[in-house]
Amino acid sequence: MRPLIVANWKMNPQTSIEAKRLLNSLKKAVKGLKKTDVIICPPFIYIPILIAAVSVNRASVSSKFVFGAQDCFLEKEGAFTGEISPLMLKNLKCNYVIIGHSERKKYLKEDDKMINKKLKKCLEVGISPILCIGEDKKQKDKGNAQKVIGSQIKNGLRGIKKEDINNLLIAYEPIWAIGTGKSCLPEEVKVMSLIIKRYLTRLYGSDASKKARILYGGSVVSENASKYIKDSDISGLLIGSASLDAKEFAKILKNLA
Ligand code: PEP
Repeated sequence: MRPLIVANWKMNPQTSIEAKRLLNSLKKAVKGLKKTDVIICPPFIYIPILIAAVSVNRASVSSKFVFGAQDCFLEKEGAFTGEISPLMLKNLKCNYVIIGHSERKKYLKEDDKMINKKLKKCLEVGISPILCIGEDKKQKDKGNAQKVIGSQIKNGLRGIKKEDINNLLIAYEPIWAIGTGKSCLPEEVKVMSLIIKRYLTRLYGSDASKKARILYGGSVVSENASKYIKDSDISGLLIGSASLDAKEFAKILKNLA
């Protein structure tokens, strides 16, 4: 399966001009890719601008960029001031949406129940959610990482049908590794990926868990990116800070090409 590289721009950059410049600077690196798909997840307001920027007379480049969002609301439409629905994203030709990122859990108090509703709504409208799971430092140090991700999987996926499960991706993002420069070792990621698959087997059977797409995220840089793809038995990477540095991100893509 082609590795999937998801770029999470978070709340950056501050102008649409800079957003277009960042995307432009990645075009060359993305054009050279034969085996990798790149999903750019900018802030909502830049998505239509960037989709338009790669679409104009540049079929070969636009077909290599796929767009995603960093969040969406748990309903399709209605009186929900300030929110963006998964259907709006789908209608913009956004194919993916990150759900349950640890920064949203920390700053916006998102919980498993809310995450579960968002996942269901995304699957209902036909946009692929990327469910983020992962333990914090305290939970890791206490030896509870597996239990924590098990409960996040069970609660997050509650009521999601077997036929929908392979339209969803799971990003293993240990919280202690996000934005800290302390990445998880490729062999640890391999173990966690196996554990995630074991939980999925319990819920959906081994055929579904074999097809599951699991990503790793947490301080991925050009030095370690290809090791995860080679040694961790995962389908791709979710990259935050390094995706905002055009040179560094291009280097990551080049190493995977
Ligand atoms: C993230 O935002 O999901 C992430 C993995 O960030 P970073 O790559 O900066 O650790």
